[in-house]
Amino acid sequence: MQIGFIGLGNMGFPMAVRLVRDNHDVVAFDTRGDALDRIVALGARAARSAKDVADRADTVLASLPSPAASLQVATGAGGVIEGSRVKRYVDLSTVGSRTATQIHGLLGRRGIAAIDSPVSGGVGGAQNGSLALMVSGPRDEFDVIRTALETLGKPFYVGDRPGSAQTMKLANNMLAANVLAATAEVVVMGVKAGLDPEVMIDVLNAGSGGTSASRDKFPRAILPRTFDYGFATGLMVKDVRLYLEEAHALGVPAQIATTIGRLWEACARDEGPDSDFTTVIKPLERAAGVRVARRPG
Ligand code: NAD
Repeated sequence: MQIGFIGLGNMGFPMAVRLVRDNHDVVAFDTRGDALDRIVALGARAARSAKDVADRADTVLASLPSPAASLQVATGAGGVIEGSRVKRYVDLSTVGSRTATQIHGLLGRRGIAAIDSPVSGGVGGAQNGSLALMVSGPRDEFDVIRTALETLGKPFYVGDRPGSAQTMKLANNMLAANVLAATAEVVVMGVKAGLDPEVMIDVLNAGSGGTSASRDKFPRAILPRTFDYGFATGLMVKDVRLYLEEAHALGVPAQIATTIGRLWEACARDEGPDSDFTTVIKPLERAAGVRVARRPG
């Protein structure tokens, strides 16, 4: 299948690599020339702009860092909306249902179908094709892109209402934000009390307190203190804010999300938005006067 791919970052690059390796004809664009050079070296063709991608491919996928970037790439000047060939735009980014609905409306007027397909599973999932893809949009369009999405992971069709998949993704990420922050808080407490953090993680994983954070993020990026999981704190703050916006718009309770959100905002302030999101433990460590690390030997 001929596929356009815009946004070759932590997630987009490994996804585009999988599509190239699966013999799709990929035409790619990123504002970062180095990322573009790397994907061209692996067999993709380079485009000069988002419009250029949409002039050359029926199906355009995008993995972008913010709702503003998605809106600009999809519907701005020099964007996908101006492409002569594009029939469908698949947004793999997390943008929230409001932006997704806006993009859907603007592209729809030009006869371009908008499909939401935010993903979960991190950089590892993008590399090995085990992402969960949450898809909303016209069912017949989903059927056209299904095989390509299966190269990236497991697609779940959420419904035809624009933005539904974004709502699903925000629910997922709010829980991921909760369990990472909560696991960090309890491990800091245990270390202050003299427990070995690695023993704590082993026990949590064998017991009822195990979470995606204790199973994956602690062993990979916190206990070794590499803080290189591959998801920026600024992106998590974006997702928490989008969740709160969605919850407030719906008039539903969000006490836990509001409290956890403050912790993520503090992390972005203290560690910087480009820090890895596993650094959320650092403000807690400083407040407690401890350091959570794998013990030598
Ligand atoms: P990233 O910042 O690493 O990558 C974004 C890429 O988009 C960069 O290469 C950047 O140069 C490019 N870009 C920005 N503006 C552009 C424009 N106008 N035109 C072309 N390219 C442009 O971000 P990421 O971690 O890959 O995340 C991408 C999306 O996926 C985000 O919405 C994020 O919330 C979501 N996501 C990330 C993860 C993760 O673990 N990193 C997991 C699930 C979902």
